[in-house]
Amino acid sequence: MELLKLENISKIYDNNTIVLDNINLKIRKGELIAIMGPSGSGKSTLLNILGIVDSKTSGNYYINGKEVEELIKNKPNKLRNSFFSFIFQYFALLKQYTVLENVMLPLTYRKCSNKERIIKSEFYLKKVGLLEHKDKKINKLSGGQQQRVAIARALVTEAEIILADEPTGNLDQKTGQDIMELLLEINKLGKTIIIVTHDYNIAKQCSRIIKIVDGKIISDECY
Ligand code: ADP
Ligand code: MG
Repeated sequence: MELLKLENISKIYDNNTIVLDNINLKIRKGELIAIMGPSGSGKSTLLNILGIVDSKTSGNYYINGKEVEELIKNKPNKLRNSFFSFIFQYFALLKQYTVLENVMLPLTYRKCSNKERIIKSEFYLKKVGLLEHKDKKINKLSGGQQQRVAIARALVTEAEIILADEPTGNLDQKTGQDIMELLLEINKLGKTIIIVTHDYNIAKQCSRIIKIVDGKIISDECY
C-alpha cells in the first residue's frame, strides 16, 4: 500500500483561483521525489497539503490507507509531527538561539528529559557535520551550515517524511549540491523525501520527477 495517496485533490480560493486542479498522486515509502514547475504553479500549496499545514478544497487524502481527516481528529499536531517535517528555502531558524537549541526545539513538548533531548539533538547534529558548532548562534553560520541545522531539526523528530520547499534555492551551486548529497544519504537510510526545486541538477538526482503547471500534474516519471 502507498504511504501517501491524493485522490482528485483541488485547492480553490474564494476568488475562484484554482491553485490545484484535480491532483492524483501516490507516494511510496522510501521515494525521493522532485516537484518542479513554474513559479505560482502550486508546488508549495501541494507540499503544504501533503504536510497537513494547508487544507484542500476537495478530494481525498490518505496516509497509509487511512483518510487524513479521520487520522488527525484527536491529536492533529502529534500526528502531523510523527509523519512530516519541513525544510525551507530560508531555513526558518531562530537567529537568537544556538544551533543545539534550534535542533532541540521540536522536542520541547515530547515526554522525555532534557538530557534525552540533548543526546538526540547532538546525534543528528553529528550526522549533518555540525556537532562542533552546537553552541554557536545561528547568525554566526554560513547559509549552507544553517540549512544543515534545519535538516538536523527535521531529522530530530524522526518523522517518516521530509518535505523540502526549495531547500537549495538560497544557496550557491556547490553548497546546494552538498545539501542535496546529505538528503540523498538520508533517503538511502529509508526516509521518504519530497523536494520542490527549480534546479534540474537537483531534480535529476531524484528517483522521480513530477512536473506541475497551472495546478495540474503534466508529467510524473520515475528514473
Ligand atoms: P509555487 O510554490 O509553485 O510558486 P504556490 O503554491 O505558492 O506556487 O501558489 C500557487 C498560487 O496560489 C499562486 O498563483 C498564488 O497567487 C495563489 N495563492 C496563494 N495563496 C492565495 C490566497 N490566499 N488567495 C488566492 N490565491 C492564492
Ligand atoms: Mg513555492
